[in-house]
Amino acid sequence: MENELPALTDADRARYEWQMWCPGIGGEGQRKLKDASVLISRCGGVGGVVAYQLAAAGVGKLVIVHAGNIKPSDLNRQLLMTDAGIGHSRAESIERRLREFNPHIEIEVVPENIGDENAYELVSKAGIVASCAPLFPERFAMNDACVRQGKPMVDAAMYDFEIQMSVYWVGRGPCMRCVYPEAPPYWKRQFPVLGAVSSTVASLAAAEVVKIITGCGEPSIGRLVTGDLRTMEFRKLRVRKSGATCCSS
Ligand SMILES: [Zn+2]
Repeated sequence: MENELPALTDADRARYEWQMWCPGIGGEGQRKLKDASVLISRCGGVGGVVAYQLAAAGVGKLVIVHAGNIKPSDLNRQLLMTDAGIGHSRAESIERRLREFNPHIEIEVVPENIGDENAYELVSKAGIVASCAPLFPERFAMNDACVRQGKPMVDAAMYDFEIQMSVYWVGRGPCMRCVYPEAPPYWKRQFPVLGAVSSTVASLAAAEVVKIITGCGEPSIGRLVTGDLRTMEFRKLRVRKSGATCCSS
């Protein structure tokens, strides 16, 4: 199997040298990263940092799903946007910033938001999904496509100073609907966000993606990681398959 992984070039070895020193990554883990594809939706305060970290780590292909134009109010947290880009496409800014940062990976940008009508096709473009959308219908659409395709979904969310992150992977643990049978009624489109908080949960999610791809460490399957950055208290809660029809075969 290992022979089917892409070889590392001298440029790859120079670029990723420091992370290849991590036990469990090494040269083989780096080849797995080069071979991997990850879909990230959306790519704002959370997803933008996930995309940036995965570009830094050398994930071979990133599929970025994000609609709309840059607004001034994006810029307290959406680190792949620019001030000069206000009024212009978010997807273009994300693509340009990622290409400047790492021109050696493949980046496909889809200037749409994910929903029931396009989730299955978009999820089929990648081996892993990073769900970074603030809205439950989008997260559910990705979850349902991942369940049908047997793919892992790393879900990252935040509100104010609170973060939540888990890995949903049918066959190995619960899906997102096992934990959230429906969207909480209090969930709103606009809510308090500090960029340092969205970046924190994004980095946790990016680490989980790297762990799933390389096989190092223990991904948070069946575990919901929660944290409150006001008190710096973090917890890991056990979550189980519900037994409902959402992901039972
Ligand atoms: Zn389920």
